[in-house]
Amino acid sequence: MINKQKSIWVFGDYRNYFQNRVTLQLLSKAVDLARVISAEVCAVVFGHEVDEWIMEYTAHGADRILVIDHPSLTSYSTESYLALIEKLARERNPEIILIGATDFGREFAPRLAKRLHTGLSADCVGLEITVDGLLLQIAPSFGGNMLAEIVTEKYRPQMATVRPGTFKEIPHDYERKAIVERLPLMDKLPKPRIRLIEYERADQRDHAIENAAAIVCGGRGLGNKNNFKKLDELAKLLGGCVGATRPVVYAGWADHKALIGQAGKHIKPKILFSFGISGAIQHTAGLGEAQFIIAVNKNPQAVMMKMADVAIVADASDVLHTLIKELKKRIIE
Ligand SMILES: Cc1cc2nc3c(=O)[nH]c(=O)nc-3n(C[C@H](O)[C@H](O)[C@H](O)COP(=O)(O)OP(=O)(O)OC[C@H]3O[C@@H](n4cnc5c(N)ncnc54)[C@H](O)[C@@H]3O)c2cc1C
Repeated sequence: MINKQKSIWVFGDYRNYFQNRVTLQLLSKAVDLARVISAEVCAVVFGHEVDEWIMEYTAHGADRILVIDHPSLTSYSTESYLALIEKLARERNPEIILIGATDFGREFAPRLAKRLHTGLSADCVGLEITVDGLLLQIAPSFGGNMLAEIVTEKYRPQMATVRPGTFKEIPHDYERKAIVERLPLMDKLPKPRIRLIEYERADQRDHAIENAAAIVCGGRGLGNKNNFKKLDELAKLLGGCVGATRPVVYAGWADHKALIGQAGKHIKPKILFSFGISGAIQHTAGLGEAQFIIAVNKNPQAVMMKMADVAIVADASDVLHTLIKELKKRIIE
């Protein structure tokens, strides 16, 4: 019998699990939201031989897991997965569906919203419950210059995608129990129009920045590519990663995978160095979880300086060179 309790669904995107923990982060947020609206948290898992993910999602807060485990679902397929989740959502009417804004999620979520004839807020940076019990979806809009607060009043489910790194996962608890419903594959899965020939795992270092404890980030104020390249040296000394602003990426000083902000990565380092960065909202949108920020800028009025825990008014490349020199001395001593 289908459970009639209000339900918040989290789509289980477990590819690249060790680098990308967005599903666990969404489960943790779903637990908070569920408390407010007295709902259960339900993870939806498709694939083949997925028991590992059932355990993981249970340990991270799911009360119920809807599983379809079949060899034909071994690789992620938008068409099959859409058909399956659409059918389940029509049968069970979840109140909310949360999906990670991964490359797959970004393709999958809008199509699902269209099929279910409901709204979707993309790349949310916050989720709350309003006094009326609606999902408040906080998302950057107008090029990131404003944060919009969106509610889906009339249609269900309320849907949002959220970027990796936006929320913190709760620590696992392997004593937790969840109801696991193993469901059959649909009789007629759509014939995929795309055939997977082979796949290759992306360079794992591409995601290292999202989990790095130390990040050194550079902007236009570093002046040129040579100065920017010095960040590599500092990152190495700190055992961290290099991040960049958009103008720097466009200028070819850094690769796109180093981009931090609305159009790039969301980071959560323990310590962030920010060299010659003004602090435009599109950049700071990615810094939400940095614990301690040290900014260097010629302009003490720069937003980045105001956000920082330590603000150094100086030439960015001078400070960078000095820091490297001093750290090297200490490491050698
Ligand atoms: C739709 C959209 C999406 C965007 N997405 C992103 C994104 O994801 N990430 C992102 O970063 N940007 C993004 N941007 C661009 C963003 O609006 C800013 O333009 C960008 O973040 C500014 O980068 P910056 O701080 O390096 O450069 P600037 O804004 O030019 O700032 C340079 C800073 O360096 C300081 N400075 C200059 N010389 C020195 C010196 N010698 N020593 C020390 N300080 C110095 C200046 O005082 C200034 O504060 C986006 C823009 C749009 C429209």
